[in-house]
Formats: sequence, structure tokens, C-alpha cells
Amino acid sequence: MNLKVIAFDADDTLFVNEPYFQETEQKFCALMSSYLSHHSLSQELFKTEIGNLDLYGYGIKGYTLSMIEAAMKISNNTLSIEVIGEIIELGKALLQRPIELLDGVEETLKALQGKYKLIVATKGDLKDQQRKLHDSGLGPYFHHIEVMADKQEVNYEKLLKRLEIESKEFFMIGNSLKSDVLPVLGIGGYAVHIPFHTTWEHEIISHKVNHPNFRTLDKISDVLEILL
Ligand SMILES: [Mg+2]
Repeated sequence: MNLKVIAFDADDTLFVNEPYFQETEQKFCALMSSYLSHHSLSQELFKTEIGNLDLYGYGIKGYTLSMIEAAMKISNNTLSIEVIGEIIELGKALLQRPIELLDGVEETLKALQGKYKLIVATKGDLKDQQRKLHDSGLGPYFHHIEVMADKQEVNYEKLLKRLEIESKEFFMIGNSLKSDVLPVLGIGGYAVHIPFHTTWEHEIISHKVNHPNFRTLDKISDVLEILL
């Protein structure tokens, strides 16, 4: 391998994210429990969220608007202003959750620093991702943070063009096979999957990945055995 750039996904790769969304969803379902079963509420919210992705993109602000929209629909537009206010507060609380670094992240970055250009390649709201990186204390390890509109092949191709590197010089590390692994392999890069204990429904794929440029590792510090 002749690698130049090591890219890290942020959410559930560097720090905890999905469990916070799941906790928020529980609270949303509790707020709306007089209308539908927990399961149906979750499904309605997910459907609304996915339906809005093209317009809002990924991140907490779009998620908050989707909670409001789903709640209005579920209540047949009878929802009180107070409940809408509570949903907005759920979104704001999500934007202020403290950062919980995952095991081995800092030692991994420390060991790779100076040997490669390290970047963050993430989806989500720009401001929120910048806040999380700042609060995590990891900012100084990275050359820059790339907040991508989506993580499909075309988005990675644009990223490589900006970095002025070829795909075989690019190595991506992340918890999502769908977003962090498959598109990178598709354009000729290297990818490592570090599974997190829980995955957003939208990121789950049903097939196995087999590729010479691909590995699954238990923990992020295991990449050091490949990269050092
Ligand atoms: Mg992730």
C-alpha cells in the first residue's frame, strides 16, 4: 500500500452517536404514546426521516423537523404547541450531548499523526460536527474535517479530487459498511470496518463484504497493525 490519506468516519467511529438518537426516539415515542404503539411511532418517524433526507440531508436539525412532521401526521394535526415545543427541546438536547470518545481512538490518532494526512469524513450538520470535533479534543490530529452531503461513490470521488490523491492512496475507517466501506471499495480505495454495537436502520446492509482492499477489525487501534 502507498497510502497518503487516512479518513475517519466520526459518528460511532470516533465517538458515540447512534445511542443518543435511540434515546431521543424513546422520548419521542413516550411523548406520543397516546396515539400509537411504540413500534408504529418508530416506523412513522423513520419513514418521515428517510423521506426528508433528500431535502434536509443528514443530521440533528433535519431529524428534529422530521420528528415534528411525523408527530403532526400521527396526531392528525391535533398536536398541541406545547408538544411541538418539547420535540424542539429534544432536538436541542441532542445537539448538546457531551462527547464520549470510543476506546482506543486517541492512541490510534497519536500513533498515525505525522505519518499520513488524517482527515474526518462525515455526514451530518456542519456546525454540529465541528462542535463535536472541537469538544472531543481530537481536532488537532486532523488536517481537516469533511462534512459530506452523502457518502456515495460520487461524494468520495469529489473528496479525492480536492485532496489531489488517487483512490489507491485513500484509506477509510468507519462503522458503516454502506457509507464508509462499499463506496470507497467501489472507487478503488481501501476500507476498514469497525462495527459499533448498534447501527442506524438506514445504514444496515444484508450481504457480506468480500474484497481484497477490505478488512473488518474489532477495535480501531487494530488499524495500527496494518498502517504502521
Ligand atoms: Mg458512523
